[in-house]
Amino acid sequence: MIDSNDIQKIIEKYDQNNLSIGTLGSHSSLNIFKGAKEEGFRTVCICKEKDAIMYKKYPLVDELIIVKDFTELLNESMQARLRELNTVLIPHGSFTAYLSTEELTDSLNVPMFGNRQLLHWEANRKSQEEWLRQAGLLLPATFESPDEIDRLIIAKLPGAKGGRGYFLANSPKTFYKKFDEMVQRGLLSKEDLEKVHLQEYALGVNAYPSYFSSILNDDVELLAMDRRYESAVDSIGKIPASQQLDIDINPTYTVVGNFPIVLRESILPEMMRMGDNVHRKARELAPPGIIGPFCLETVITDEVKIFTFEISARIVAGTNVGIGTSPYAYLRYGENMYMGRRIALEIKEAVKQKRLHEVVA
Ligand code: AMP
Ligand code: AMP
Repeated sequence: MIDSNDIQKIIEKYDQNNLSIGTLGSHSSLNIFKGAKEEGFRTVCICKEKDAIMYKKYPLVDELIIVKDFTELLNESMQARLRELNTVLIPHGSFTAYLSTEELTDSLNVPMFGNRQLLHWEANRKSQEEWLRQAGLLLPATFESPDEIDRLIIAKLPGAKGGRGYFLANSPKTFYKKFDEMVQRGLLSKEDLEKVHLQEYALGVNAYPSYFSSILNDDVELLAMDRRYESAVDSIGKIPASQQLDIDINPTYTVVGNFPIVLRESILPEMMRMGDNVHRKARELAPPGIIGPFCLETVITDEVKIFTFEISARIVAGTNVGIGTSPYAYLRYGENMYMGRRIALEIKEAVKQKRLHEVVA
């Protein structure tokens, strides 16, 4: 287990006037690198050969490190190189998708922007639910076993899989039937039956508010809002209902993009309170709470009830819709503020105030 003392020692040896901002080359890397460049940082990208084209077309990276696999981030030689470059890593969805929580907390000896302790709370469904419920948020009901299903549910697998392999069912019978179908189509394996998470399906529209918890300012800022563009579920409406019944489609939720959302203004105060409460609870669970970006995944019903079904305690790719300016960032900062830049700004300000140790772990 890497504790804050280990990271503290590394930070003390860093040339803080010469920091690099680094991340894995995918997910929200362009957002992060653009923000870093605009705040005057050097940038380091750990990237796969096939994706390097992105950083040629958008020249935002000073140091491109090509790897075969993202797990090479854990190699000692790679970490030594990152430390030599005075790198602060910005974790995003590919960190948790391609590395395990244990690898991130135990084997990554490079300072990361954020609170590493919260990764455990986020990675485990049960503790995540506890955190959100104790923060006073409304959550969909969950079911221990498929045999208990008595209403429309969504069956999910753990980890940020982008909704691949999710399916809906409204009884034990339809659950087992659909599960078998998903196994036959190769989207799930038989062993997944043990791991599947059963959650009441909240009927409504999705909204994903993204917040920034500033330790320096002791404030939670609402900076962006998006919804996802998911295949195949967002394409089913293009097929007439009669034909949908004929071909018996099972909606899946593979994310392929995001749309910006501007929320009805009267819903905003509640969204803001939710962000504040989630951070306040996190501060009790793992001080100093959330450092930097986080996102709540919500469904808003026709009675304007806001159900939260997940939290990401890091930058989400939905904030890419705000690269340049998002309306909510504009309201607070004026032009040209977005999540990647907000992160870089906090790091720059922390260095200036000699408080870098408070925002990395
Ligand atoms: P990737 O490196 O694209 O595979 O992304 C890593 C993880 O983040 C995946 O498991 C995706 O589900 C999730 N992800 C990537 N892009 C987006 C996006 N635009 N919106 C929401 N989630 C995303
Ligand atoms: P997730 O991987 O948990 O982010 O979920 C992927 C997609 O599944 C979401 O964007 C929603 O469209 C849908 N979804 C997940 N959980 C629920 C729920 N409890 N009720 C309704 N829709 C959900």
